[in-house]
Amino acid sequence: CGVFGVYGHSEASALSFYGLHALQHRGEESAGICTSDGKNFYYHRDMGLVKEVFDNERIKYLQGPAAIGHVRYSTSGASKLQNAQPLVFKYKGGDLAIATNGNIVNAPEIRAELEELGSIFQTTSDTEVVIHLIARSKQKNINDAVKEALQRIVGGFAFLILVNDRLFVAQDAHGLRPLAIGRLDGAYVFASETCAFETIGATYERDLRPGELLIIDEKGMTEDRFAPLQQRSLCAMEFIYFSRPDSDIDEINLHSARKRMGRQLAMEAFVDADIVTGVPDSSISAAIGFAEQTGIPYELGMIKNRYTGRTFIQPSQELRERGVKMKLSAVRKVVEGKRVVMIDDSIVRGTTSLRIVNMLREAGAKEVHVRISSPPYKNPCFYGIDTPDRKDLIAHERTVEEIRIAINADSLHFLTKEGLLEAIGRTPDEFNRGMCTACFDNNYPTALSEEMEAVGCG
Ligand code: 5GP
Ligand code: SF4
Ligand code: MG
Repeated sequence: CGVFGVYGHSEASALSFYGLHALQHRGEESAGICTSDGKNFYYHRDMGLVKEVFDNERIKYLQGPAAIGHVRYSTSGASKLQNAQPLVFKYKGGDLAIATNGNIVNAPEIRAELEELGSIFQTTSDTEVVIHLIARSKQKNINDAVKEALQRIVGGFAFLILVNDRLFVAQDAHGLRPLAIGRLDGAYVFASETCAFETIGATYERDLRPGELLIIDEKGMTEDRFAPLQQRSLCAMEFIYFSRPDSDIDEINLHSARKRMGRQLAMEAFVDADIVTGVPDSSISAAIGFAEQTGIPYELGMIKNRYTGRTFIQPSQELRERGVKMKLSAVRKVVEGKRVVMIDDSIVRGTTSLRIVNMLREAGAKEVHVRISSPPYKNPCFYGIDTPDRKDLIAHERTVEEIRIAINADSLHFLTKEGLLEAIGRTPDEFNRGMCTACFDNNYPTALSEEMEAVGCG
């Protein structure tokens, strides 16, 4: 998912619209904005793309200088309007709204406990537990109530919480999900990715730190924390696939990092070929790096239809399978008779790779060598990146050779974890270079429930 927030700007709702539009790749299922004028909340949310959910009328209706917004794809909780965010509630202290990117690992436990105490949940979204924890808190002031709620939850998340005329911004204790702070005309802006700042003309200030809690009210911004500062375990998939190439995380540009992954991949797994091509859009940067390193020309071996959504984000397998064909076509005259190196960022179920290899062969490619700019994806994510159960991960119990056969490639190599971390280039001083790589190495930075360890969640 993607979140965007504004505090202290007369055009808060319009800025949120443009900000969310820049974050659209992070979720295409639903979109929503909630604003506050200090007295009342105004909100609108619906299924669909940002540009479909909002028009001029609606943006005008969303009044006030503070706003939080959300684009969603579901990893926990069904894809339906009820779960669209921001979630908005009335409680004894007034109005409360929340927008989340990520996932709360212990939400089912907390929810069961609260239901036992009489709480009635309105959604199946894991985010709702945070609202209940805040509303039920015995703390006298709202800052302490929010802090107490955050201390109960475990997971990977970035939160924007609007309570009356106050905005809370929080990053999970391990810093798994990205969230950046920017400034615009004296106002504060917050976004899952810095590409949203570029869109609205805001300047980047810094990324949130693990366990940080920012409180913004009419007096300004207070920097606080709900968990002790520890090193980050930033999600590697944000670098590999999820974030837009024009975004930076902790000042590392994503396109440049992906190019280094491609260079590294070429050093680890060179193959002689006539052309290098990347699966658009997410693998183009890595393919350029691979081409630069090897001297093999980068070519446009396939084209993506820009009017199709990201197949991965459509929830059902059937839709996903239908989507792949709608989305990509080979450029026959470019690949015909050629030995092709096909770069992709990851293999999850393996359906995409098999289709693309076959598509290139049908278009006349003589050989198709697949190079993946991340290690084999063997374990599910519990922190907000949508992954299937272990049994559906093609790399879970297969060797690289078995995967090569399954995707019909002439050769197949994955980037090593060490190569990946080197290419991303974060500090060598921290454990695992300050990154989460659990989906590759099964080393989860947080506690998991027994159930999760056993089966893996979707
Ligand atoms: P597969 O067909 O192997 O399940 O899908 C792999 C493809 O899905 C890759 O091309 C990758 O770019 C894309 N993809 C989309 N979303 C995700 C995601 O959240 N994680 C990963 N690892 N790959 C994703
Ligand atoms: Fe990211 Fe993988 Fe860690 Fe999930 S398990 S947060 S996808 S690196
Ligand atoms: Mg892809």
